[in-house]
Amino acid sequence: MNKIKKGVLFVVSAPSGCGKGTILERVLKDRPEIFYSVSATTRKPRTGEIDGVNYYFYSTEEFEKLVCENGVLEYAQFCGNYYGTPRKQVLQKLDEGCDVILEIETKGAMQIKKSYPEAVLIFILPPSVGELRRRLEKRATEDAEVIAKRVSEASKEIEMSRNYDFVIVNDDLEKAINDFEAVMLASRFMIKNSSETINEVLSAR
Ligand code: ADP
Ligand code: 5GP
Repeated sequence: MNKIKKGVLFVVSAPSGCGKGTILERVLKDRPEIFYSVSATTRKPRTGEIDGVNYYFYSTEEFEKLVCENGVLEYAQFCGNYYGTPRKQVLQKLDEGCDVILEIETKGAMQIKKSYPEAVLIFILPPSVGELRRRLEKRATEDAEVIAKRVSEASKEIEMSRNYDFVIVNDDLEKAINDFEAVMLASRFMIKNSSETINEVLSAR
């Protein structure tokens, strides 16, 4: 009965510019015990991004080596760059009973769904694709060509939300944060994360 209950693995996806970074920043501030997995990428750092905090910034050769050495749980190409989840720390944290959040795009999310079926998949939707474009333009971290590429990816990604467990619309930010926290709480009680609880009840005297 003293066995540590495994943490829940949350996979969070949303089209670029939808506000997932903003929502997660607030959620993680309220819940510092959650482990946010820092991804590896070959994308160049944006102004203010720090290696090891926002991403591990790798060259293409370094990234491909990491993949060959089975160092990632999943990886994908997005708008011409590689992105991947370092394997070791995520599995270790889950074993320690820590909840873990992966902020990843849809191809990677589908790999996790297959290899780790207990993962809870949450998709954040924008109110509309037009509003998504306006948010990316306002954020101004990418040039017009990259913004156009990201917006054109968005509809394909939104279609993939049908394969997730939960969808949340980020229209009003405060409401979206509350909805996200409610979903995290509900995830604890999903059947796919309850087999240890059921076994404990069955074996208890
Ligand atoms: P992502 O991490 O999904 O790429 P960001 O969190 O960087 O997106 O958000 C993109 C932009 O939209 C940011 O400038 C952010 O301040 C803004 N934003 C986020 N949520 C909302 C919202 N509910 N309403 C209006 N603007 C928002
Ligand atoms: P950005 O360049 O805006 O930081 O991220 C682009 C996209 O890559 C986002 O949808 C983001 O969620 C996704 N992404 C970030 N890290 C990973 C990862 O480790 N694996 C996968 N598959 N996607 C990731």
